[in-house]
Amino acid sequence: MSSFDLTGKAAIVTGANTGIGRAIAMALAEAGADVALAGRSRANETAAQIAAAGRRTVLIEADLSTTAPVQQVVDETVGAFGRLDILVNNAGIIRRAEATDFSEADWDAVLDTNLKSLFFLCQAAGRHMLGQGAGKIVNIASLLSFQGGIRVPSYAAAKSGVAGLTKALANEWAGRGVNVNAIAPGYIATNNTAALQADETRNRQILERIPAGRWGEPRDIAGAAVFLASPAADYVNGHVLAVDGGWLGR
Ligand code: NAP
Repeated sequence: MSSFDLTGKAAIVTGANTGIGRAIAMALAEAGADVALAGRSRANETAAQIAAAGRRTVLIEADLSTTAPVQQVVDETVGAFGRLDILVNNAGIIRRAEATDFSEADWDAVLDTNLKSLFFLCQAAGRHMLGQGAGKIVNIASLLSFQGGIRVPSYAAAKSGVAGLTKALANEWAGRGVNVNAIAPGYIATNNTAALQADETRNRQILERIPAGRWGEPRDIAGAAVFLASPAADYVNGHVLAVDGGWLGR
């Protein structure tokens, strides 16, 4: 299975202190990569687990609600590891309210973090990767890249934007050695979905619609991330891979 081997590769994962980001960072390390952990909260526990797996790691403080830290995230990673091969854009937020009551602040916060900073991180990492003629970018999209959701208009808009942007960048960069793809996680038990899990009615409705019959765990996303970050995905470009227990098939 050497085509899934990431030995000697250097990765960035944003928002890796918890949830899906932590599971992806760990999986990349287990596959052999050194991993920079960029986020607004220090990912100390994830860093300890990566070090225990025998890989190098670096913690980068970056509040991605603005684009200000984007270049520094790339520069610090290259400074620490001497290279950059993989970017996983995972950091994201969600705000819930009826569309009629939705505030401009909640619109901007979600678009800025989930789409604008994601694009400029792709740009900064992409420039480096294009220079070396190789690289893998994995954006974390959502089922709401395909559907509208309920009471989450800015999230649906941002994640649909992530899907479109993933294809747009793939069109520009596929011929130059840089693969840009996305993962659309289904309903995964994390902080992001705590309110849904706690709402008895929504929780039951969601479970009834998932053919796999359970919420996903963060580790359910890890294998797809390793695949898209690895040489096994060299001919996969601009794809949004649903990992959703079958939700979209219903
Ligand atoms: P989570 O546990 O809330 O993790 C989100 C991560 O993003 C955290 O590390 C968080 O840091 C970080 N983050 C948020 N705002 C940030 C900012 N301004 N600057 C830097 N980092 C920031 O949720 P999750 O479910 O693992 O979400 C990870 C990704 O998966 C998100 O893009 C989310 O939209 C996507 N997703 C999740 C689901 C799901 O069902 N859970 C489904 C589809 C897509 P803090 O800990 O400091 O907040």
